[in-house]
Amino acid sequence: MPVGGEKERPVAHEKETATVTSQISGLEWELPGMWNRMFESRVLRDHGTAELQRISALEGGESLEWCYGCGKCVPVCPVDLVGEYGPRKLHRLAQTGTNLLADDRLWLCTTCGNCLRVCPKQVDMIQIAPAAREAAVGAGHVPTELQDVFEKTFRQGNCLGENPRRRHAWTRGAGVPVRVLPSDPSPVDVLFYVEDYWSYHPRGQQAAQALARILTVLGIDFAILGPEEKTLGDSQRLAGERGLFEALMEDVVATLAKYEFARIVTPDPHGFNALRNEYTKRGHHYEVAHYTQLLAPLADRIPWSKSIDARVTFHDPCYLGRHNGEYDAPRRLLQSIPGVELVEMGRCRENGYCCGGGGGGMWLDGLTAGRTTERLSERRVREAAETGAEILAVCCPYEVSRFEDAAKSTGNEQLQVLDIVELIDRAMAGGSAGGD
Ligand code: SF4
Ligand code: SF4
Repeated sequence: MPVGGEKERPVAHEKETATVTSQISGLEWELPGMWNRMFESRVLRDHGTAELQRISALEGGESLEWCYGCGKCVPVCPVDLVGEYGPRKLHRLAQTGTNLLADDRLWLCTTCGNCLRVCPKQVDMIQIAPAAREAAVGAGHVPTELQDVFEKTFRQGNCLGENPRRRHAWTRGAGVPVRVLPSDPSPVDVLFYVEDYWSYHPRGQQAAQALARILTVLGIDFAILGPEEKTLGDSQRLAGERGLFEALMEDVVATLAKYEFARIVTPDPHGFNALRNEYTKRGHHYEVAHYTQLLAPLADRIPWSKSIDARVTFHDPCYLGRHNGEYDAPRRLLQSIPGVELVEMGRCRENGYCCGGGGGGMWLDGLTAGRTTERLSERRVREAAETGAEILAVCCPYEVSRFEDAAKSTGNEQLQVLDIVELIDRAMAGGSAGGD
């Protein structure tokens, strides 16, 4: 059976007019050409199976060939909403002779998981994308900006290429003591795994400081790894660098083995996903929570001192929601803040729209720009603004900077982008985050 094939447009032969004679009345009629089209038979070109097999032969790539073309995945794909995408379209490209391993469209998938949610054939982009990208990286087809991130991660243990000794520089502005385990290695309840953007990005550092204040007010015993922390590297894995992810994991596991702690709490849904799913697959088990899961049950113990009085909408991070099933903890926290009126966007919870940062997308805005009409973050910010919200609340370190940029570029500067911990900190007695 031939696989695929490219249908050529049918060739039409028309006369401007034709005369026909009625078999009943015997009268003659002049018909215009539209009634008189003749078509040559279509040509179906066989492209062979090579390009589809190239992907489906990879470990993790098998399910691409299960696609039977129903098209359900396309309207839910966030990339298709601003361009041309979805597993069905990738399948078709491979069917019709495109080598996806050498094509920049391979890198557009953010591994958001929305297509897998609706696919009747379990075509799994969360497996296909990293497998195909790993093969592409091996063949030397890697976008330059991604190569740069891989190298920075390899050299410095963080995607920003920052000095590891500055990992805990943010603690100086927290206004509360933050214990750094390498300096004070006694046992601790919560190991706060800060991850890269909260460690180094100025807006992330503000959120890290806010969480440190909240944990302190709640009397939670916590500490960080400071200079010994390395990224968990889940987005690097999904972007095709499984080897780098596994090398990082060996280092992280060795570091964690040096300290006694009861649980790991992280603000990063990507790091959370790595610890909860990828580490366990490889035999490393830790009790792990996203910070919203730690704080939500404690919300009635937070000493509120101020009402926020704002309409707030919330963006579900793909790797907290769809990938790990947590939709309620962030909402419970937001609803516990005095004066917050929570309004949902049309696309939320299981059908939440991706910010564009997952699966390596965080570092591929340049490549994506050439293939889309606007950034996914811009699309999302416009959806947030349409709710009439004054604040877009987030709980993933990738999102504050992405959405703040998008709010500016789409003319929605009135929309404040704040992490949930920043909102809590503003409303809490002793909180020091500025703004109203
Ligand atoms: S939903 Fe699944 S089976 Fe249907 S077109 Fe998309 S990938 Fe193919
Ligand atoms: S995982 Fe998300 S971005 Fe990737 S193809 Fe599926 S819906 Fe589109």
